[in-house]
Amino acid sequence: MKKITIIIPAYNEEESLPLLYERLEKLMNEIKNYEIEVLFINDGSKDKTIQIIKELRQKDKRISYVDFSRNFGKEIAMLAGLDYATGDAVIFMDADLQDPPELIPELIKYWEQGYDDVYARRSSRKGETWLKKFTSKMYYRVLQSLTRVEIQKDTGDFRLLDRRCVNALKKLRESQRCSKSMFSWIGYKKKEVMYERDPRIAGKTKWNYRKLIDLAIDGITSFTTSPLRISTYLSIPTFLALFVYFIYVIVKCCVLNVAIQAYQAIILLILFFAGVQILLFGIVGEYLGRIFNETKNRPLYFVNEYNDVKEMNE
Ligand code: UDP
Ligand code: MG
Repeated sequence: MKKITIIIPAYNEEESLPLLYERLEKLMNEIKNYEIEVLFINDGSKDKTIQIIKELRQKDKRISYVDFSRNFGKEIAMLAGLDYATGDAVIFMDADLQDPPELIPELIKYWEQGYDDVYARRSSRKGETWLKKFTSKMYYRVLQSLTRVEIQKDTGDFRLLDRRCVNALKKLRESQRCSKSMFSWIGYKKKEVMYERDPRIAGKTKWNYRKLIDLAIDGITSFTTSPLRISTYLSIPTFLALFVYFIYVIVKCCVLNVAIQAYQAIILLILFFAGVQILLFGIVGEYLGRIFNETKNRPLYFVNEYNDVKEMNE
């Protein structure tokens, strides 16, 4: 019998967990032709989240957990989920029931039809502010314009991934992660499923605008080094200005027989050296970008405990 792992990162979710388990249990009893594993990643919660997860595991062995040594953030928690999942496919889900578990049978249906990455696209985002919706829309526009890889719109992390996607993602071990663009980057056969995103069931969102801006910057800088190219592009108008002004001064001097003024020479020199400097910055940036892309290989998290066993980090 094939196995499916449901990966749930949880950070201070003591209020949502009992409700989540109730809905999951119903679902697990409905899915008869697959073995289900629910893998919680406790991302250094400061409340009773880990105690609740342990209690759940005591009465239901389909539940597994990874307990982080501190808060590493959702992106890293998702990677740990991929590392520890034992299923033939995994499903990412939030702990706050914003992603309805009832959609899972449909995700599985398309997996059976041979799709590797069945992602849920939200048709509405209840309980989110106008500003958050607007900024996220603009962000995807910018991200998409910076890269050739196609990025799925209105899609979160709620999705089913086949084992070969899991193995592929496990090989991308950079520390500034943006799973959304990684899902696109690895490719494979994708299928879209529409759903209504519900408001959070209990507790508070962990996101604020600072975190979102950080995530946005990580998304762009981890995915592409094009911001480093700004310098190279800036040198073009500088040289253009130099060229135009140079022609103007030469024409005035030779054709109209007016002597070159000191300030004109100074402007020409400034434009020349500014252009050279910006261009050199751009070149350094290009190399820096390449080094940056090669150096992302530190362990990304440490685990305190996996299924009641202390992790020794061997
Ligand atoms: N989360 C996490 N680590 C963090 C922040 C959040 O594992 O540092 C988890 C959180 O428990 C939830 C999911 O990530 O399961 C999404 O978080 P949240 O609902 O706060 O974000 P939103 O849905 O508002 O974007
Ligand atoms: Mg949420």
